[in-house]
Amino acid sequence: MKQKYPFKVNWCKQCDQGWIEIVRYSKGGKPFVKCSECDGKWDTPLDSNDANKASIPLDQRIKRPTTQEVIELGWDKYIRKF
Ligand SMILES: [Zn+2]
Repeated sequence: MKQKYPFKVNWCKQCDQGWIEIVRYSKGGKPFVKCSECDGKWDTPLDSNDANKASIPLDQRIKRPTTQEVIELGWDKYIRKF
């Protein structure tokens, strides 16, 4: 079964309604994490433990990075698998 959020790292403490996923801007740049519901953005999976560190993403297209990109960042260890 294909997961809806294959790169989820945290339940969002800011809105308590969505998963925080690893994403990046389509144009490129370093991946970050973002809530699927409230659009809260954090620079890293660890930062997303703290709702106070949330910011707002730029108005740009966002997509999922590849599994390879996630592994290169060392962020695969943060992915919740269930
Ligand atoms: Zn949220």
